[in-house]
Amino acid sequence: MSEAAHAAPFEPSNSLALPLTQTTTVTAEDSNPYQIALRQLENVAGLLHMDEGVHQILRFPKRELTVNFPVNREHGGTQMFTGYRVQHNTSRGPAKGGLRFHPDTNLDEVRALAMWMTWKCAIVNIPFGGAKGGVICDPHALTVGELEDLTRRYATEISLVIGPDSDIPAPDVGTNGQVMAWLMDTYSMHAGHTVPAVVTGKPVSIGGSEGRIDATGLGVVLTTQQAFQRQGKSLAGAKIAVQGFGNVGGATARLFGQRGAVVVGVSDVAGGIHNPHGLDIDAVVAHVRRTGSVVGFPGSDPVSNAEILEMPCDVLVPAALQHQITPENAGRIQARMVVEGANGPTTPDADLILRDRGILLLPDILANAGGVTVSYFEWVQDIQSFFWSAAQVNSRLAKIMKSAFDNVWETSQTHAVDLRTAAYMVGVSRVAEATLTRGIYP
Ligand code: NAD
Repeated sequence: MSEAAHAAPFEPSNSLALPLTQTTTVTAEDSNPYQIALRQLENVAGLLHMDEGVHQILRFPKRELTVNFPVNREHGGTQMFTGYRVQHNTSRGPAKGGLRFHPDTNLDEVRALAMWMTWKCAIVNIPFGGAKGGVICDPHALTVGELEDLTRRYATEISLVIGPDSDIPAPDVGTNGQVMAWLMDTYSMHAGHTVPAVVTGKPVSIGGSEGRIDATGLGVVLTTQQAFQRQGKSLAGAKIAVQGFGNVGGATARLFGQRGAVVVGVSDVAGGIHNPHGLDIDAVVAHVRRTGSVVGFPGSDPVSNAEILEMPCDVLVPAALQHQITPENAGRIQARMVVEGANGPTTPDADLILRDRGILLLPDILANAGGVTVSYFEWVQDIQSFFWSAAQVNSRLAKIMKSAFDNVWETSQTHAVDLRTAAYMVGVSRVAEATLTRGIYP
């Protein structure tokens, strides 16, 4: 990029000021996820000697849409809801990212999650940029009919910016294949024809991919396996603790168990369970189906979510929400390895504490990239109307995850940096290169 191309519009006079939001607050270690995402980018921009103009471009989401919309409640009355869709960067392809239904979601959280998606897609080298969506709501407090109405109205409101060539949502916290089906159906009704490729994570009966439900968990397990192999160790007998027992945490626990690891603790929003000799995860899943929570599983001891994070184990997988491992508890983590199933569970200051304590951390933008990788496969299959077997999906996923892991691991060795920094170096440099190569329009 020439000096003239970026000098005026990107004058880095106040490079850390964030003119985008009224909600941003700064504390000792800022817990605002967007500030954390910016700090992570900042760290790597220096290491990569990144063009300042490109750095400024990458700090900002390309496009943000806030929507306020009504839903009729079944007990009577109308309730207003607020939702977001943020596209961080589309230099490498259409924007891609999940949709979160959660009472605490907010614009800065969605911005951070969109930025992390950009790096993640680049690390696994799939032709997508990063996006994320959210609706402030508690999906468990809505009836099925209300949830469908909310989804369809939100889909209509954001249909301005989504589409198979522009931005493709997928499930995240509080959403699932059924929500994706409603989203796809709504978009298709407006288009006048069926558009399966507008979302991924759909049920297989309407153009979803084999293997998508387990893909994020499988990616977590494959990445852990690669790290064990690099250390000359095997997963057999390794003790695993998983925080969060939803799409990611549930599959992760089950797939670790299938590979001979011993899952000693799992948790969900209601609390956790512990058995040092191992939990039968299929039986825990059946218990959750019956009762709605892992809590009270026969033959286990109750533990809190804080205790799950700190229990003795070989591998800790935070697979719930961000901001779980902080400077407050990082000194008490007993795991030898932390594998981030969730997005943003570890803060930058906690990263440093874990690193100094010799705990290996496999970062979210690498470890949980299996989900978006199979989402890419789903999108490709939808566009071609030609579907693959589960075996094809899983072997292609394994190939991509291995290549991404090797790339990040080697970068970490070459530059003597931790794996998060290495992952950022790989992902951010690819996005920076695409941004520079495309140039600035006009
Ligand atoms: P989910 O809604 O299916 O499950 C979330 C789980 O976390 C539930 O078990 C819930 O009870 C638990 N939980 C919620 N709040 C909690 C709290 N305060 N403490 C402990 N547990 C809590 O969501 P998911 O799709 O499994 O996503 C989990 C994480 O993984 C998120 O950070 C998400 O962004 C990330 N992720 C998801 C995917 C995907 O394909 N779904 C892909 C990559 C990353």
